[in-house]
Amino acid sequence: MRALQLVSDRETEAVDLPEPDAPAPGEVQLKIRVVALNHLDVWGWRGMAFAKREMPLTIGAEASAEVVALGEGVCDLVPGQLVSIFGARVCGKCHHCRAGRDNLCEHVEGVHGFHLGGFARELVNIPARQCVPVPPGCDDVGAALAPITFGTCEHMLFDNALLKPSESILIQAGGSGIGTAAIQLAKAIGCTVITTVGSDDKIEPAKVLGADHVINYREDRFEGAVRKITKKEGVDVVFEHVGKSTWAGSMLSMKRGGRLVTCGSTSGVSAETNLMMLFQRQLRLIGSFGCRKQNMVDSMDKMARGYVRPIVDTEVEFGDLATALERMESRKVFGKIIMRMA
Ligand SMILES: [Zn+2]
Repeated sequence: MRALQLVSDRETEAVDLPEPDAPAPGEVQLKIRVVALNHLDVWGWRGMAFAKREMPLTIGAEASAEVVALGEGVCDLVPGQLVSIFGARVCGKCHHCRAGRDNLCEHVEGVHGFHLGGFARELVNIPARQCVPVPPGCDDVGAALAPITFGTCEHMLFDNALLKPSESILIQAGGSGIGTAAIQLAKAIGCTVITTVGSDDKIEPAKVLGADHVINYREDRFEGAVRKITKKEGVDVVFEHVGKSTWAGSMLSMKRGGRLVTCGSTSGVSAETNLMMLFQRQLRLIGSFGCRKQNMVDSMDKMARGYVRPIVDTEVEFGDLATALERMESRKVFGKIIMRMA
């Protein structure tokens, strides 16, 4: 069975692994269809000092798959069914898990593809509770983007920032994987969407996705452009994941009482916050990580209904991770990089 493993920092290897045994009670065996790559993979590839993990590590944190076999006691899935895989090994028993707040699990064992073995492999055994059925009308590419790309955005926008129709939102890095998802999700409920991109060739594609205003942040100070667009008022919500390089400008882009929700820090993890601005303008800063399984259900439902669609930048061949990650690191991408396994 083919698998793609990280053998040391910045070095991956296509390997042959033995096929897994029959699934244990409560588990299913999955045949992986599509793996989507994320900044999590870039961090993992670079070798993130604080991640506890053992090499070699099978990569791939986000994927869709087909059920091939059921372990004892699994009765809500059937062989042949397409599923999207929740990417963290959560307990399913703590009060957060039982309340559907899967990403706050008190006993989480780790994230697949980062701390635990990932999904860039032909077959994998996994607890059935990590499988989310895919509705008719959503294909295996859409299902592969539900756990992180769309799920994270659903959770940020609707659970955390409580984004409402007709509000205004600034979405940082609109050409990134989650940027392309966030633009569509915000537009689908009728928001005014302002987004930033790093090159002129991304302006038109961002408008096609639904952005009302697109700012090339390399040419204009985006916070100034946002204030001009909003007639000096600022936006209701800022969608952040860039971090250090955009933080100060994102703070300045909010209207009084505005909310900033962040799920990442691709340009650096530390940034200065003007506390006087925070309290005087009554701003709210909200951290968000991962999603609930219900966010995956909602994302795939929106894909099935045609409200949003997966945006694929490049489909790379199995094993060609270096090209994919270099493309992500260099910020040339518009949308997602995926790898088809079956
Ligand atoms: Zn739990």
